[in-house]
Amino acid sequence: MATMTKQARETIKGYWLDLGERGFQHLTIAGYTRHFFGDAGWQGDKCGCIDNRCIGYHHDDESDCGCLEPCLDMYVKAIRETQTGGTE
Ligand SMILES: [Zn+2]
Ligand SMILES: [Zn+2]
Repeated sequence: MATMTKQARETIKGYWLDLGERGFQHLTIAGYTRHFFGDAGWQGDKCGCIDNRCIGYHHDDESDCGCLEPCLDMYVKAIRETQTGGTE
């Protein structure tokens, strides 16, 4: 299992989840990992991309990932749909 770089982890933890009336919440690495990989643990690449062949394929440098934010957006969108589209 790959471990994410410090930069990837900081990016995830620094990302705000906007829940509208419910306010804002910080993302967690555990939540991000669980969303895409369940209990299997992190299966993506070190840069934080959910594709485990990102470095060297999507980009050359460990710190220069353009996929992380779109991945976070997908995750955020999914949370927003479950948390705000409920029965309330
Ligand atoms: Zn990627
Ligand atoms: Zn990447």
